[in-house]
Formats: sequence, structure tokens, C-alpha cells
Amino acid sequence: MENENINTSNFIDDFIKEDISQNGKYYGKTVHTRFPPEPNGYLHIGHAKAICIDFSTAEKFKGICNLRMDDTNPTKEDVEYVDSIKEDIKWLGFDWEDRFYYASDYFDKMYEFACGLIKKGLAYVCELTPEQVRENRGDLNTPAKSPYRDRPIEESLDLFNRMKNGEFSDGKMTLRAKIDLNSGNFNMRDPVIYRINRSHHHRTGDKWCIYPMYDYAHPIEDALEGITHSLCTLEFEDHRPLYEWVINNIDCEAKPRQIEFARLGINNTVMSKRKLRQLVEGGYVNGWDDPRMPTLCGLRRRGYTPSSIRNFCERIGVSKVISTVDYSFLEHCLREDLNMNAKRAMAVLNPIKLIITNYPEGKTEKFEIENNPNDESAGKREITFSRELYIEESDFMEEPIKGYFRLYPGNEVRLKTTYVVKCTGFKKDDNGKVVEVYAEYDPQTRGGTTPDGRKVKGTIHWVDANNCVDSEIRVYDNLFTVPDPESGDKDFIEYINPKSLEVLKGCKLEKSLKHAKKGESFQFMRLGYFCIDSRDSRQDSLVFNRAVSLKDGFKKTNKK
Ligand code: ATP
Ligand code: MG
Repeated sequence: MENENINTSNFIDDFIKEDISQNGKYYGKTVHTRFPPEPNGYLHIGHAKAICIDFSTAEKFKGICNLRMDDTNPTKEDVEYVDSIKEDIKWLGFDWEDRFYYASDYFDKMYEFACGLIKKGLAYVCELTPEQVRENRGDLNTPAKSPYRDRPIEESLDLFNRMKNGEFSDGKMTLRAKIDLNSGNFNMRDPVIYRINRSHHHRTGDKWCIYPMYDYAHPIEDALEGITHSLCTLEFEDHRPLYEWVINNIDCEAKPRQIEFARLGINNTVMSKRKLRQLVEGGYVNGWDDPRMPTLCGLRRRGYTPSSIRNFCERIGVSKVISTVDYSFLEHCLREDLNMNAKRAMAVLNPIKLIITNYPEGKTEKFEIENNPNDESAGKREITFSRELYIEESDFMEEPIKGYFRLYPGNEVRLKTTYVVKCTGFKKDDNGKVVEVYAEYDPQTRGGTTPDGRKVKGTIHWVDANNCVDSEIRVYDNLFTVPDPESGDKDFIEYINPKSLEVLKGCKLEKSLKHAKKGESFQFMRLGYFCIDSRDSRQDSLVFNRAVSLKDGFKKTNKK
């Protein structure tokens, strides 16, 4: 799965190199690609793979890449989606400059080309209903049939014009390409290229009541934009002969070449927009940008960085073989990035008071602590230490289990950066729950080292109870309980993980986190990487999301 040789070329690059070489069909031409989303949902991590391939391939060859809304299907498109798509691509770090297009802008051209095909005897108006077309498809041994195939050109031209003018009801007629009723490739058995559909279009309004089919429209969009290489996913491989047929038979000079690559699948999630929409509309998640969603806006809100996603896409590579990538690899790429770049901070998720009984009341000491041990330029910050601190509930045990090196009566532990303390006792409430832990500090151990060299095995994080801020913290787990929720016996909704979101309230954070900025990530010592929730966090009621745990994370340590 991991392809470390990101600088070596892939099969797409090889095709392009051939095409722009001296004997190639694009010799001397600028490599021109496009990313063509259908604006009917938010982009997901699968789209990120396509975006990276489209934009980076162009970049590699000093070419250009267009952004095109593939809005030929009038029923389910929305301006909200167009805006979010642009935002997400920019966020990833790619730029289409002034090359932003709508496929619907080419409707007139597409109509004109269709008339051209009819005139050449390469298309005809067929009056079979969609069911009849299906019934007459034939099989490998039987050709398809249409009684309208040999209709005179003039008649087809007239009918097609009247289809456009709204003289016939939806579904009454279609325009079909006249290719090969015998073809072993069923996509070539006189495919429908126009249908009547009285739907309002988000840009062209009610101007059109006929709409082109994807397989006809897409090659024309590419050709009109002068695309040289039309990169798409593998399910279009069987459609390539039709793509080429359209390109070769319309009156347009450009001859784009379609090259297919494998779709990205990631386990423990779903990736089709239809299913993602179902999750949103069914209220199973809190919107398209819910941090558990594989959408780019969801990943962004979760704390993913653009470079972690780009790096992930580069490393999974480009291939012709459909493969599912482990979610943990995506997390790995994020961890790698944040480990180098995120500031460190201390936070206590499940707080319990630790009282240093021999530390003077009212006294406060300041300590300097580095912001990022991997990046000196990140500088240092000041933290305070006083008599009352918060530590994790799980860092104290009344009766320690084997191998437990943290606080228990009689044991010594190091409080990160400050002192070694020895546990002297604890207090329980009426229910028997430990509510306070007592300890004495050793003033000789300032900075955490013991003057006599005695061993202190555990180091724990803490925050100063007199200098901290409350926060809600949201901890996420896989959205689905099984690796492939789409292939089980049940509907994928049944596999939603009921524990995918855990909300912790009353967490205690270092005061400096009050000024955390949106989009800034932190490593909370021993806990993982966290960021401000861009939607719900306010300076007076902070909300943090856990982007990803540390490799040997809090949960694991807890189970020791
Ligand atoms: P979905 O099935 O999620 O609705 P789609 O293919 O219908 O996806 P489009 O908006 O048409 O969505 O996709 C735009 C581009 O992104 C296409 O070129 C498509 O091939 C590519 N793409 C979509 N999903 C993936 C994926 N999982 N991996 C790689 N590329 C993808
Ligand atoms: Mg699509």
C-alpha cells in the first residue's frame, strides 16, 4: 500500500510522456487536465485523490488544470455545493486560476454537435421507451434492435428539433447515437445521448427540456476546453470507446485522451455522495462537516491538515487495481504532520484534584516549557504550578495493578517539567469514588530530576487548578463498526457505531489554549492531537475535537 517512491512516475505520467514526445499526438502542446465534480454533494477524501491526480499531473508537466462543474444532470444540483467544492479545493492547496467552467454552458454547443451527428447519419430519434430500449438490448449472441434506426435524416432532425421545443412529453423519445447494435461492448449499442426531461436546471432554468447523457456530454466538455488528458476513475474504462467515438465524430479539433485510474476506498467508512447524504439527512451525523465524515469539510473540522491529505494521496499512489486503504494510514499521515508541526500543551480530560499538601498556599511558580520538541523555532511558553492541580483520574489507583507506575499511596511520580511528588493519601465521596488525591512534593527535584539519582518511573501531565480553562472535548471513533459497511447483509446504516462520538465536559486545559485559533492543532501530552471545533467553540465556552490519538494512545495506556 505504501508507495514511498513518490517521485517516480506512474502509468498516467508514462502515457503523457509518450503523448508529448516527438512522435506523440500532443507534441509541443501544453498538458491540460480538469477536475469535473458533479455539484450534488460535498467533496470527500476519494475526490481528494482525483483532485491531487488531476492538478499534480498537470503541474508535473508544467501544464494547467481546469475546474469544471459537471452539471448536465438538472435534478439535484445546488449553489451551496458549488461554493463548498471551490472552498475545499482551495483549502487543499490547488488553484484553477481563471479556468472555472460549467458543463451547462456548453448545452448549445452540445445540441449543435448532435444535429451534426444526425446530419452525418450518426444519430437518430428513437421512440422506444426506456423499458423497451432495455428489452431490445440483446445479449452477447443477439444484437440490439430499434425499429427507428433507419429513419430518414430529415425526419430525425425535425423530431430532435421538436423534442427541444417541448412538443413531446418526458421519456417519449430519445436521440441515440448510431454506432453498432452488434458490439460486444453494450455501451456502443446505439447509446441514448439525449433524453426529454422537464426539470429546472440551477443555471439554465427552464431553457432546456432535453438534456445530454453523461457519456455524450463529457467528451464534448473536454474537447471544448482543449483538455489533452481526461483522467477519470476505472468505471469509465468500458465507456472509453464511446468517449472516443464522440470525440472523433463531432466537429471539434481537440482530441482529448481518456485515462482511467482506480477509485479510492477506505475501510470503516462509506464514500458515495448518495450514502453520505443519507447520513446527513437521516440525522445520523451533524451535517456534511461532521468531524466523523470522510468529507473534506468534515476532515478539516476534525483537524486534518491539507498537507496530510495531499501526502496521503501521493503515498497511496495511482494504480489500475481497486484497493481499499486502511483508515489508519490516513491517520498515520496526519500524525506524522502534526508530530512535526503541532504545538504541545497540557490538558486533562477526566480531571481529579491533586493537592500538594506541603506546598505553600497562595504560592505560584512559573516554569518554561517548550512548544514543540521537534521544532525549536516554535519557542517556549510559561506554565504555572501551585498547590492544587488537576490530573487524569486514571493516573491514580488506590490499589495499583502490576506494572502501574503512576500515582498510588506511597509511590513517587514526576509531574511533567516541575517536581517529583509522592502520593500520601486520597479522599472518597459517599459513593466511594475518589475525589481528591494528596501528595507531597520534593523541593529538591525542581525540573524533574532527583538529586540522589533515585528512579522515578512515571511522568504524568497536569494543569494548574488556579490557572486553567474549562473545555468540552469531543472524542471520535470510526463511524462504522465493520470494515466494509457497504457489503454486509444489512443496510449500511445498521452498522453505524453508536460510540463514534464521546462528549467529555468539564475538561481542564492550560490557560494558553483559550487563545487557540481556528485551524490550529495541538498535541495534548499523552492524549493525542486536538483542535478547536470551528463551528461550536467560543472563547468563553471552548470545544476541542480530537483529530487523532497518539500511536500508543491514551486508551492503550489506560488499559495497562
Ligand atoms: P460519488 O460516487 O461519491 O457520488 P462521483 O464519481 O459520482 O462520486 P463526481 O462528482 O462525479 O462524483 O466526481 C468527480 C471526480 O472525482 C470524478 O472524476 C470521479 O471519478 C472522481 N472520484 C469520485 N469518487 C472517487 C474516489 N472514491 N476515488 C477517486 N476518485 C473519485
Ligand atoms: Mg458522478
